[in-house]
Amino acid sequence: MSAFDLIVIGAGSGGVAAARRAGAYGARVAICEDVRVGGTCVLRGCVPKKLLVHAAHAAEEIADAAGYGWTVERAAFDWKTLIRNKNAELDRLNGIYERMLGEASVPVLRGRARLAGPHEVEVHGERYGAGRILLAVGAAPIMPPVPGVERAIDSDRALDLEALPGRVVIAGGGYIAVEFAGIFAKLGARVTIVIRGDRLLRRFDREIALRLEEEMRASGVTVLRGRKVARIDESAGGAALAVRLDDGAALDADCMFFALGRAPRTRGIGLEDAGVTLRANGAVAVDGSLRSTVPSVWAIGDCTDRHNLTPVAIAEGRALAETWFNDNPQTVDYENIATAVFSQPPIGSVGLTEEAARARYGGVAVYRSSFRPMKNTLSGNPGRCLYKLAVDPATDRVVGCHMIGPDSPEIVQGVAIALKCGATKAQFDATMAIHPTAAEELVTLYAPAPPPRPA
Ligand code: NDP
Repeated sequence: MSAFDLIVIGAGSGGVAAARRAGAYGARVAICEDVRVGGTCVLRGCVPKKLLVHAAHAAEEIADAAGYGWTVERAAFDWKTLIRNKNAELDRLNGIYERMLGEASVPVLRGRARLAGPHEVEVHGERYGAGRILLAVGAAPIMPPVPGVERAIDSDRALDLEALPGRVVIAGGGYIAVEFAGIFAKLGARVTIVIRGDRLLRRFDREIALRLEEEMRASGVTVLRGRKVARIDESAGGAALAVRLDDGAALDADCMFFALGRAPRTRGIGLEDAGVTLRANGAVAVDGSLRSTVPSVWAIGDCTDRHNLTPVAIAEGRALAETWFNDNPQTVDYENIATAVFSQPPIGSVGLTEEAARARYGGVAVYRSSFRPMKNTLSGNPGRCLYKLAVDPATDRVVGCHMIGPDSPEIVQGVAIALKCGATKAQFDATMAIHPTAAEELVTLYAPAPPPRPA
């Protein structure tokens, strides 16, 4: 039986980061992977999605160009070209990941791995010993138990459709639902979003989420609130599917897409038999040092279902490798994690929402600016930006920044550094603006908005 210092199960962003960093410090490391190296982010999530977002955004750029004097004749979009080019890029990235593991002297054990004991992993009937085992197995889309669900797709399949569907029904109002709604709508599909609650992006700042809904409706997306998909049938009419909602309404669709969250991929790989405690939703229970209930087994990233974001998994993987193999104990700081939604228009967010800030600090000061970015003047594009800062009046610290509008994800990355440094509103104000930009609004917000009226 081969013996390693560390076996990582799952070659996604977190697992690869941990394995490479450990390998760089001379540890004997192997990584197990049953599909391709790269994981959700590179192969089935962030990267291919963002490429499709760029494609969708190009439609807006072409439309905006007319006001700037351009005549773009016969602009036509070809889905197959997009998917082919996207797949070629994923192949390239997969190759880079494979090469990086090779350069760190980390062999890939190909096949579905099973935890065979506290220090043992089995792949294809072969057993491998390890001082430490790191679970980085990620998560997979949840499909609901509704009749006809086999006719529906998840986000994996949405990235590889044969053709752009004409009519798409998307169930869910989270990241994936709104991002794909933007992609399909901008590329020319008729999109209907069905949400069970009363708003999209429930965990985001309410006003920002409502603005997104407004912008999406203005660009032709239908949002049906307070409803759920009850069944999916083949259609007797022209459309491929008849989607029945729980209020009895029926929608014609060529594509039914569920984006109802993701579940940890932890079942059937020997975890519970080996003594690893899973939470009710299958997430690996970990302590503050990311250790599971088996002392030689740790877990990072989406399979722990805490902060399900690629950079968090990477930070966790590197922190463990530093701690174990570089005598440099590290923990991950989960405060003020910035996040972006690549909707159309996109959202950037860091820190507390207005609602959370009010709950924590009471009389929080909220500064807001709703404006039409300069680019949208000549183009006639009706899209508007909304930027918000939440400030704790006791310390003057900016405790939340939320924005929707072009380039918000790019802008909020810089703001996240300021929040990490504990920047105050006075320091934002003392920062010289870059003119003319949309981002300058963040350093010229003069007076706080009046507090919301009681409901
Ligand atoms: P989310 O958790 O973001 O959203 C799930 C949505 O599905 C919510 O609107 C939720 O409604 C709804 N929902 C859940 N269960 C049901 C149900 N049984 N019936 C009807 N509606 C339901 O999940 P996603 O699938 O969009 O994304 C998964 C995760 O992937 C994200 O949480 C994020 O961590 C990650 N991700 C990150 C991205 C980024 O950083 N840009 C992009 C894409 C994904 P309700 O609000 O009422 O609970």
